[in-house]
Amino acid sequence: MASLYFYYSAMNAGKTTSLLQTDHNYGERGMKTVLFINAIDDRYGKGLIKSRIGLQKEAVIYDANFNFYDYVKNLEGLSCVLVDEAQFLSREQVDQLGDIVDFLDIPVLTYGLRTDFQGNCFSGSERLLAIADILVELKTVCFCGKKATMNMRIDAEGNKITEGQQIDIGGNEKYISVCRKHFKTETKILR
Ligand SMILES: [Zn+2]
Repeated sequence: MASLYFYYSAMNAGKTTSLLQTDHNYGERGMKTVLFINAIDDRYGKGLIKSRIGLQKEAVIYDANFNFYDYVKNLEGLSCVLVDEAQFLSREQVDQLGDIVDFLDIPVLTYGLRTDFQGNCFSGSERLLAIADILVELKTVCFCGKKATMNMRIDAEGNKITEGQQIDIGGNEKYISVCRKHFKTETKILR
């Protein structure tokens, strides 16, 4: 029986590394996989998923109009579907991934952020938290040593940003993973 998995975490918890490691494991057993990356996050161009520790693999680029079920049902002999930056999926696309599991019997592993820089779920994360069969938290730590669950957006000078678009494309902003308490005290967003 196939399952729909959601591996979620704050920023910099090794989601992409974990995805590529899993893909590698399938490859070693001679099993065929397909990887997907969102057009928003095509950082390296031409559909390449790259981890910070140097692994990389080609991926299919999807946009808001992409239908996962229609694409995957035409692939032969597929053993696993892997989706990076799954927070950017639409609700409909998450449901299509569920259909791949239910009607094509192919496991689907998605990796993404739980919440944005204001502490709200992304569309894809919200739907995945609702319907995934298996939820797995990948952990990283706050500067205080507690588990980091929130993402703080900062600008190039290190100032915290509390307003703006949920998805920041091509800006100079960066993210720091923090625990909920320090998200509150540092940004004042949840207080
Ligand atoms: Zn903390």
